Amino acid sequence: MTPPHPPGAPSNLPPRRRVSVHAIERATPRVVCLRLRGVELSGFGIEAPGVHIKLILPPPGVARTPVPLRYEGRRAIFEDGVAPPFLRTYTPSRFDAARLELEVEMLIHGDGQASNWVQNAKVGDEIMVAGPRGGWDVPRDGDWYLVAADDTAIPAARQVLGALPPKPRFIFFEVVNELEQRPTGASPWPVSWLFRGHDASLAGRLLEGHIRGLTLPGGRGYVWIACEAGAVRRIRKHLIEDRWLDAGQLVTRGYWKLGVADHPDGDYGQDGLDHHGP
Ligand SMILES: Cc1cc2nc3c(=O)[nH]c(=O)nc-3n(C[C@H](O)[C@H](O)[C@H](O)COP(=O)(O)OP(=O)(O)OC[C@H]3O[C@@H](n4cnc5c(N)ncnc54)[C@H](O)[C@@H]3O)c2cc1C
Repeated sequence: MTPPHPPGAPSNLPPRRRVSVHAIERATPRVVCLRLRGVELSGFGIEAPGVHIKLILPPPGVARTPVPLRYEGRRAIFEDGVAPPFLRTYTPSRFDAARLELEVEMLIHGDGQASNWVQNAKVGDEIMVAGPRGGWDVPRDGDWYLVAADDTAIPAARQVLGALPPKPRFIFFEVVNELEQRPTGASPWPVSWLFRGHDASLAGRLLEGHIRGLTLPGGRGYVWIACEAGAVRRIRKHLIEDRWLDAGQLVTRGYWKLGVADHPDGDYGQDGLDHHGP
């Protein structure tokens, strides 16, 4: 079933799929694994590792994401008195086409609208999903691969690991403590789990430190990194300016930014740094 296109919505608006919360489980003390189901998930697919979706979530105390009355350009207009929904970016960590079931692993990180929403979510709540978009077309010619992720990016990193050719790889996952470790799939290459503690201002520091200290092999390597946006910038700068990797070897994504709500998901951490030398 093709999801309906909202009345008057711009033709390039990704389809909005109505889904309901089918199950809520704790994957770790800080990660909620949400299973979403709905006939409008028909045709959904995870075509490439690291794709993302938008969860369109209702305001606090509302069990169903409201639907706009109409659109003015890309702006959704709601009935008077209806509080509009909000959007946040997540990774579809698994999709079961037979059950039309989509799994999302949402981090409870503190005071954020989505983080608060998931703590109060109930089976039967109805939300909407847009996407998927993005993803990495993994280059097959790498002699080695480096994958680094914080707790928001572990679902995407798992997909990336599953798509890599059997070449040496360096894998760093940063979480607050050992209780936050999650399954990473069968692989002969070990994952280095880094425990940063609960101070969010230190997010990405351990990833950065370990990457700076890493002895990389020769040959052409590829890097996939997603974590806090400031850390992404520092790591990208290091890889380009100190390691002489070129932009084509790097996929870097700021998945969230310290002190910023709803950080844009198009943050590739580049900021004009992609050049060698002055
Ligand atoms: C492509 C992509 C895929 C993503 N996939 C996932 C995923 O699968 N699972 C997942 O949990 N997240 C994922 N994220 C990250 C998620 O979108 C952000 O953490 C988002 O900010 C959460 O929204 P919120 O409403 O809870 O907080 P916001 O309202 O956006 O932010 C409120 C405050 O919380 C802070 N904050 C936000 N995230 C964190 C954090 N992780 N740790 C500490 N402080 C934080 C902000 O700095 C801000 O001060 C992804 C992001 C992108 C771009």
